[in-house]
Amino acid sequence: MTERLLGKPIADRIQAESRGAIGARRAGAPPPSLVSVHRGVESPFRFYLKRQSKAAADVGIAFRDEALPPDAGPAELLARLRSLDQDPGVHAILLEHPLPAPFDYSRAISEVRAGKDVDGVGVENLGRLVAQRPVHTPAVARAAIDIARHYHLPLEGERVVVLGRSETVGLPTALLLMGKAEGIHATVTVAHSRTRDLSRVLADARTIFSCVGQPGLLTRANVPEGAHIVDVGLSSVPDPERPGTVRAAGDADAASLDGWARSFTPVPGGVGPVTVAELMANCVRAWERATLPEGSP
Ligand code: NAP
Repeated sequence: MTERLLGKPIADRIQAESRGAIGARRAGAPPPSLVSVHRGVESPFRFYLKRQSKAAADVGIAFRDEALPPDAGPAELLARLRSLDQDPGVHAILLEHPLPAPFDYSRAISEVRAGKDVDGVGVENLGRLVAQRPVHTPAVARAAIDIARHYHLPLEGERVVVLGRSETVGLPTALLLMGKAEGIHATVTVAHSRTRDLSRVLADARTIFSCVGQPGLLTRANVPEGAHIVDVGLSSVPDPERPGTVRAAGDADAASLDGWARSFTPVPGGVGPVTVAELMANCVRAWERATLPEGSP
């Protein structure tokens, strides 16, 4: 029997905590303010923006999305980010990505100070994550860990494989799994596009975190029987049930792994809702840091 590891109960708990934290501290003060910057109104980020705006409204965060003109260049983007960073009324800033060349996502988001970089992906936050003292941890990596903890997946002392090494998803997930600060103590192997013989790398993995974005990558041909999969991958594929439309798909082939894997997170409904809830939690922490008097707990 293959268990579906649903994100909703975890996302609901995190959202309730954020709502409570805002309610407890507000007392007439302005609510947390989150600005999500993206390039072009017709960008494919509409789906993410809608999800963020709904989750923000749910907990009481003031959300605004700012589209740069489609012809805006890197200099305009940097200027906008610097200006938002200086604005005391803005507590949290997101930069939607990927960005096309010649934009440099990492350079751009690193213009934002660590306390406002709520995706935790600027160089300061990533460096601090390596040093085990992050200001904000990337929400998607935190969400993957939340799920693994909630469902008691085997991690401590176990062989865990992370597929993908991007600075925004795979790398921070691997760092959290192996770092001492989280107390997870997994024995982590990281695989990427140059990894040879994926089946061999996965052979004795108890838990797999897949952060690639290749639907159908994981099947019973390469996943060991009884493994657990946290599927972070999120891609759009044609929906055979509704021709002409697309649906979300993860890296794991659910049909192949059903009855083979011990458990996996479904897509949609697994990591996604927890990621957006963790993002909101980072916004609340950013607001608390910015508005609490110095020296407060
Ligand atoms: P990315 O920058 O394209 O990175 C993909 C990674 O996968 C790279 O490290 C790449 O290796 C590696 N890779 C490619 N083929 C591989 C293979 N056959 N075996 C093992 N590794 C392979 O993408 P990303 O931004 O990290 O995002 C990864 C996925 O997470 C995407 O599907 C994205 O949509 C999804 N995501 C989901 C959420 C959520 O809330 N669920 C949030 C954010 C992102 P190289 O480094 O060698 O190129």
